[in-house]
Amino acid sequence: MKAYRAAILRFADDRTALYEEDGLLVIGPDAQGQPVVRAVGPYRELVDRFPGLSITHFPGRILAPGFVDLHIHCPQTDVIGSPAEGLLPWLENYTFPHESRFHDGEYATEVASFFLDELLRHGVTTALAFATSHPSSVDALFQQAQQRRLRFITGKVLQDRFSPDGVRDQTEQSLIDTEALIQRWHGVDRLGYAITPRFAPTSTPEQLHGAGELAARYPQVWVQSHVAENLAEIAWARELFPQSRSYLATYADFGLMRDRSVYAHCIHFDDDDRALMRETGAAAAVSPTSNLFLGSGFFDYQGADRVGYRYGLASDVGGGTSFSPFHTMLAAYYVGREGQTKPGLSLSPQHLWWQHTAGAAAALGLAGEQGAPSIGNLNPGCEADFVLLNPQATPLLARKTAQARNLDELLFSLIVLGDDRVIERTAVAGQWWPAQAAG
Ligand SMILES: [Zn+2]
Repeated sequence: MKAYRAAILRFADDRTALYEEDGLLVIGPDAQGQPVVRAVGPYRELVDRFPGLSITHFPGRILAPGFVDLHIHCPQTDVIGSPAEGLLPWLENYTFPHESRFHDGEYATEVASFFLDELLRHGVTTALAFATSHPSSVDALFQQAQQRRLRFITGKVLQDRFSPDGVRDQTEQSLIDTEALIQRWHGVDRLGYAITPRFAPTSTPEQLHGAGELAARYPQVWVQSHVAENLAEIAWARELFPQSRSYLATYADFGLMRDRSVYAHCIHFDDDDRALMRETGAAAAVSPTSNLFLGSGFFDYQGADRVGYRYGLASDVGGGTSFSPFHTMLAAYYVGREGQTKPGLSLSPQHLWWQHTAGAAAALGLAGEQGAPSIGNLNPGCEADFVLLNPQATPLLARKTAQARNLDELLFSLIVLGDDRVIERTAVAGQWWPAQAAG
């Protein structure tokens, strides 16, 4: 057992934060030997319950749940910050040429290693990530995630049409490869597989049908794709699948909407789409830096909460512009405020933070329901993935956070002014990463 004394941030079931100014976090193995939170609460109340426990004290620091990124593309690590005129030219000119290099396992391993270290440096301890259409890219990413003991989900991209040579796959083989990868990786250590059609237009109906069959055969496996990101994409999807009620409904028609299915963007929805999300248990990966960068539109938070479906935050690197959860939370605030295309509102700092931790975990079905692991939080039983935050990381942050009169002011200062400098350390499965930084 290990214990840490610091301020502690975690979340209640109603999306609000619980904050302990002088807290104690006790980490120990659960019945399966997985390091989890054994106790958390006020230092003074807890310390006597664990006599002889060695406690590391971090004065002036905050322990918080590791961030959960609901949508990111590992092979786009080097595509971040590429200039393009919108989504489709960006795919053609930057993304597909980069992704075509991932047939080379050695190259895929080098990028995967950098990608995961970059996530951890930014305090992200779980991601739902796209690999490429090459099975070698999936093996590389899982191997690197396994070495780092991460709870991590990825999958081979399915794209058997309207894709250039080098990334386009073959319908039957793509489904055979997907099933083989599920059997090789899903449930190994903390790894999970996601069936990954890039988006409906780049898959034939046969490929989507096969993906839906796999989704039914392996209900614990995730499904991830993109939907309703921009108007040109929607028009194209409607042309290709005119029999479906909407672009989103295309996925439902192929059996690809269910619990553990996560769709990036979900911007241009009507209430029938929102109801379909709610009824199927699908979740939205809200990707605000990407949506602002590409000018795609603004996620309608009021609509999502009014109809009542699940969502959480995502970086969507490389369409997104930062690995930093702070930048993503700030961009989500801008997106919430926008009031010309949908109702504008001010998302509270606690709600923004929840979206990138406990909310994202719930969207993945990883909030402890029905025996599932619990991540994105620091309540008893949660897996021991957490970050140590330094609210004095820059001169302006130190000045601003010292004046915070309540939790919302403290969290909002971090959201607006924070970046990787705030993340002093990241712990994965109860161990600091990298190991030599431990103390
Ligand atoms: Zn994406």
